[in-house]
Amino acid sequence: MTKTNDILSSEALGFDPDALAQRYAQEREKRIRPDAETQFVQLSHDSPFANKYLEEDPYSETLERAPLNDQREVIVIGGGWVGMLTAARLSQAGIRDVRIVESGSDFGGTWYWNRYPGAQCDIESYSYLPLLEETGYVPKLRYSYASEIYEHAQRIGKHFDLYKDAVFQTWVTELRWLEDESMWLVTTNRGDAMRARHICLGTGPANRPRLPGIPGVEQFKGHSFHTCRWDYDYTGGGPTGGLAGLADKTVAIIGTGATAVQCVPALGESAKHLYVFQRTPSSVDVRNNAETDPLWAESLEPGWQRDRQKKFGEAFLGGPIDPAFVDDGWTRLTRNLKELVAESEERISGLAQIADFKTMETIRGLVDETVKDPEVAEKLKAYYNQFCKRPTFNDFYLDTFNRKNVELVDVSATQGVEAITETGIIANGQEYPVDCIIYASGFEITSSYERRLGIPIFGVAGKSIYEHWEAGMRSMHGLMVSGFPNLFLCGGGFVFQLGANYAHGIDVQAGHVAYTISELSRRGIQSANVSFDAEERWIADQLETKGGGFVLGGSPDTCTPGYYNQEGTSKRYRNVRRETYSKGVGAYMKLLRAWRNDGQLDGLELK
Ligand code: NDP
Repeated sequence: MTKTNDILSSEALGFDPDALAQRYAQEREKRIRPDAETQFVQLSHDSPFANKYLEEDPYSETLERAPLNDQREVIVIGGGWVGMLTAARLSQAGIRDVRIVESGSDFGGTWYWNRYPGAQCDIESYSYLPLLEETGYVPKLRYSYASEIYEHAQRIGKHFDLYKDAVFQTWVTELRWLEDESMWLVTTNRGDAMRARHICLGTGPANRPRLPGIPGVEQFKGHSFHTCRWDYDYTGGGPTGGLAGLADKTVAIIGTGATAVQCVPALGESAKHLYVFQRTPSSVDVRNNAETDPLWAESLEPGWQRDRQKKFGEAFLGGPIDPAFVDDGWTRLTRNLKELVAESEERISGLAQIADFKTMETIRGLVDETVKDPEVAEKLKAYYNQFCKRPTFNDFYLDTFNRKNVELVDVSATQGVEAITETGIIANGQEYPVDCIIYASGFEITSSYERRLGIPIFGVAGKSIYEHWEAGMRSMHGLMVSGFPNLFLCGGGFVFQLGANYAHGIDVQAGHVAYTISELSRRGIQSANVSFDAEERWIADQLETKGGGFVLGGSPDTCTPGYYNQEGTSKRYRNVRRETYSKGVGAYMKLLRAWRNDGQLDGLELK
């Protein structure tokens, strides 16, 4: 027996890989629903539900303003990280006639809307918070809480003078290319009809909440809200907890994804009784938060943030692990794989899967270490590969299930909560009367583009972008689309493919968009349209045929369903592969840099 076989034996590993593989397949099978994304209620502006869960802003009063009919060089839709980074990089490139149109009442995007107790970034703040060097800010904690992140968004807005031209509380209702004028017409729910030479669509991946399509969801007569519209008037307290309004309330939270993992501890502490309705458990690894060392902060040299983002990306994607990330949960899998490779005497296939089993065994072990009731502990263990679903990191979530007032309701057997009545929730054939339902049911992150963007977009000859994408999303560089001149799809699902640090990926795109727009402007070009051939080349050369590397969500044939793999539907997944760039952020940066250095604006038809 070779040494390699020794280290892979069940005895040496402490688990049986075959048994685990079987268990994963069973758990996945249990969760597959043929209705996929249609199991969720789509919140659109004309749905009867829209006002309460989508349009209403619990954090601000609505302000009146007159409709705008003016013209800008660039309109950026969305004032979250994507929109702000794009506007900031445009400003640095000398393009200052930029208006951000934002649905919230301030900048921040996801960090404007998500104010639920316990909200914090899961990627270390030094790599995740954008433009730290430019704004001269160093976060207070290794993993910042939401209020500090929201404040940072405002800091960026002030630093780059983005407030001057921004319009808030405004939902874009249509984008239409005006061929005669080589302009985009942007119409909104405020009666605006603004024109812009260029559009940067920075609506981000998580701007549209969704509700589970549970029978009776509209009938509930108690209080309810989605986690991204937290109702502190009802719960009392604030982002640090102390939800005194729940002291006499029975509360249900539906969903156990990254959001629920962060807010369940505060709910457990405050509610008279809390039911956590769980369909699939999340993997919950340790947080390892820490205060920022002021001496370290003072010692930072120019270029430190880019360097750190690069090192984080490398460590996550299997490259060298910088000491800064040796105890970061995102690198646990890479570390395990490296260890196995170092111990092996020969190159063998399947080590990555063993490393994944090892990682998840450690994470399942944390449940046993924390949760006292073994039956509850068993239900909280995630049986799938780590990146089948979004990993989470929290030091308080699991312990919450040791509280007497907190009850885990496993609804996996019925593929979700069965029904909602006027007074409560039905699960496993039993009614749970509740005062309040909190939907931690996520967002339209990878659902069909029409659902997730929610904006009708008409390009050359009035063609709808969703028609163009009927057989799957098409673009060049994940950014520009044939037949939709001067339109840049910044951020969005594509960037999720680049690595774990979304903020880094969007900055890479922001710099590229800033270059492209400033170059078009410098050359006096009115319209830049990607040729159909250039789109085809991008898909053939960079997406469809080139596997390997990191693919978010893995295969729907082996992974448990979720938004990472469009609820596990293989047919859709094949389409998703046409927007899946699996080589990581470093390769993407190199590719875009080469395109810019070439200086030919290759693939663009210019007028
Ligand atoms: P998710 O989509 O990850 O989770 C939704 C939850 O609702 C899942 O647990 C899902 O179960 C459950 N659910 C859906 N339908 C039903 C049903 N009918 N019955 C019971 N349960 C149901 O949403 P989140 O808001 O948690 O997270 C979305 C994303 O936002 C994250 O993955 C992450 O990318 C981002 N985020 C980032 C944070 C950070 O960086 N700090 C914090 C929070 C969120 P199932 O899994 O079975 O589908």
